Amino acid sequence: MTLYFCLLVGIATSGEITLWAVPVIFLAIYLADLLSGVAHFILDYRRTTPNSGLKELYFYQGSKGSEEYLKQRTAVMKKISPLETIVFDFKVHHLSPGALGRRSFLRLIMPAMYFVTLPATVSLLLLHTLDWIGSLTALFGWTLIGALMLTQYAHSCAHRPKLSLLVRVLQKTRLFMTKEQHQSHHLDLGVDFCILNGWANPVVNRIFRFCRKHGWVFEDGLEPI
Ligand SMILES: [Zn+2]
Ligand SMILES: [Zn+2]
Repeated sequence: MTLYFCLLVGIATSGEITLWAVPVIFLAIYLADLLSGVAHFILDYRRTTPNSGLKELYFYQGSKGSEEYLKQRTAVMKKISPLETIVFDFKVHHLSPGALGRRSFLRLIMPAMYFVTLPATVSLLLLHTLDWIGSLTALFGWTLIGALMLTQYAHSCAHRPKLSLLVRVLQKTRLFMTKEQHQSHHLDLGVDFCILNGWANPVVNRIFRFCRKHGWVFEDGLEPI
């Protein structure tokens, strides 16, 4: 996070920021929403590794808060890759969306920090310091990284019963999607995959339909196999 804010200070003090910063920021947020939607449908429909134990966890009949389930979950998670853990989380969230709303902010942003924020911030900082990219390009990248980091948190807010004042403002201004907006995805798992603010849903819906028409979407991937 320190590197991420160092990059912002470098951009802000460069003297190169103009009014173009406004459309650049909005474009980066739009792209983050679009990427969140594409990543979401890939993760929703990606097949899990057969016989990895995920199917048994997914269809577990008892309480998912029980000691037996948690023990079984820990054992399975040790055997699978971090990517497959995220894939499972996306699938299981359709069964119990409320669980996502109970997760802490840190737990929600951690996968994005690990896979996106850290490598992208280091690369951008290097490119900007070496003057290989201008400050507006760096600002675009900085906003994109931040928005991507917050997508799963924004998603969880659509499943939270209680929201902070800041989140309510973000939802009112449509920078975060609302519970009502996101409900359409839970009613039909073939639409509205964007999980930041839904701005890119019309485009992502077209991309998904195109992929489905061409047989690139595994219909049996919605549940672990
Ligand atoms: Zn989904
Ligand atoms: Zn959801």
